[in-house]
Amino acid sequence: MTTSKTSEHFDVIVVGAGPAGSAAALVTARAGLKVLLIERGEYPGAKNVSGAVLYGSAILHQLIPNWWEQAPVERHVTRRELALLSPTTSVSLDFQSVAPSYVDPPFNGFTVLRPKFDRWFAAQAEAAGAFVLNATVVDDVLREKGQIVGVRTRREAGDIRGDVVIACDGVNSWLARKVGLQRQLRTHELALGVKEVIGLDESVIRERFHLDGSAGVAREYIGAVTGSVHGGAFLYTNRNSLSLGVISQLSSLVEQKQRAYELLEAFKAHPSVAPLVRGGTLREYSAHLIPEAGYSMIPKLFTHGMMVAGDAAGLCLSTGIYIEGINYAIQSGRAAGDAAIAACERREFSRDTLSKYLDLLRKRHVAGDFHAYRHAPAFVNSERLQNLYPELAARGSEALFRVDGNRKRKLLPLGWRTMREVGGRPHQVLKDIYHAGRAYLW
Ligand SMILES: Cc1cc2nc3c(=O)[nH]c(=O)nc-3n(C[C@H](O)[C@H](O)[C@H](O)COP(=O)(O)OP(=O)(O)OC[C@H]3O[C@@H](n4cnc5c(N)ncnc54)[C@H](O)[C@@H]3O)c2cc1C
Repeated sequence: MTTSKTSEHFDVIVVGAGPAGSAAALVTARAGLKVLLIERGEYPGAKNVSGAVLYGSAILHQLIPNWWEQAPVERHVTRRELALLSPTTSVSLDFQSVAPSYVDPPFNGFTVLRPKFDRWFAAQAEAAGAFVLNATVVDDVLREKGQIVGVRTRREAGDIRGDVVIACDGVNSWLARKVGLQRQLRTHELALGVKEVIGLDESVIRERFHLDGSAGVAREYIGAVTGSVHGGAFLYTNRNSLSLGVISQLSSLVEQKQRAYELLEAFKAHPSVAPLVRGGTLREYSAHLIPEAGYSMIPKLFTHGMMVAGDAAGLCLSTGIYIEGINYAIQSGRAAGDAAIAACERREFSRDTLSKYLDLLRKRHVAGDFHAYRHAPAFVNSERLQNLYPELAARGSEALFRVDGNRKRKLLPLGWRTMREVGGRPHQVLKDIYHAGRAYLW
């Protein structure tokens, strides 16, 4: 789009062409509205970072049937591993399935490379009729009598008017803060993710990870991988590369005076990871913040003339079992788009009208998921879960499987002895069982 068009009036202005923004732009453009999608990067996805597994393929399938046939996807994920690490040992839960929901369309999830995926997704919105304006930073909103009536871009004569603004500008949403929907985020609510893409031959990846065809694996790690810093790591298989990275709670990173890229180096050198990345060549390095406090950091989601979606609304579910943000970005972007369509039909853009957005988030299970797992982010970042229990699992397993001529102990005394060795206290363990139950079971 050329700058001359910026003097026009739009029905909907979407800020940020990540998955939330492209979903919002796609649905509103398809409804015949005049839509502008503004992106600060040179192209959509240029600076965007995820692991990335796009879970909930069925959600995007509702918007773009059989989307995986045309989108730049890497592998469909049929295997998931959760590993607890000590410096010498890895104890993991390995899930692998050939059940139809994992191996047949619409599949459960795909690994993607965000620069390619986001570009493709924004192109779908453009094909549906949205104008995409790249390399343009939105600095502020335009207000009239308490109503948001457009955005101010960092361009000459860069004010653009629109009936509805949807802020999809990511974790550090400038716009949500400007209008008072979001507060200043605290460092314990944010994590820093650093990531590398490491090139490897397709045949090597299949062999190393025991994969057939285009099946893929997603591994997540907790424990010694981030030392005393609270966080975890991930390793995902792409077609001919691996995406791997370390995610560290920002407050903990600062307190422990650690550097995220050093943690990433330590992760790559761990005995359970080093053989998997051996011989690979570095293709990409990136870093990005993650809103990881879940339900407690979700801001007010709408005001007169404006809604907030995706990471800008804190909608990334990070629970230790899940790291899912792309699917919630798409769901929330779509819900905000649908609410904008309803508002445009009525020519009524008040907060009351836009409250339909919240109804849609409830109906499509976004609000419910975050509420259900509201205790999980704090639990997963607790000191003992991060350091003590991975060590307990590793040492306990080492003792369990060691055959050295000494007396074999049964599980209870063995567990008891290991717990005392690592400094665990029974009353703390009981407390943690309760917290784990509250976070994940009921
Ligand atoms: C290391 C890491 C690993 C992750 N792994 C996964 C994973 O495996 N699976 C998963 O589902 N999620 C994962 N996530 C989370 C996921 O990346 C996010 O939840 C998701 O990207 C949110 O999408 P979004 O569209 O809301 O925001 P973003 O993807 O951040 O997009 C925001 C867009 O807004 C643009 N923008 C920002 N400010 C402005 C402005 N002022 N003007 C114009 N444009 C602007 C940005 O350039 C960007 O294009 C991971 C995140 C990280 C950092």
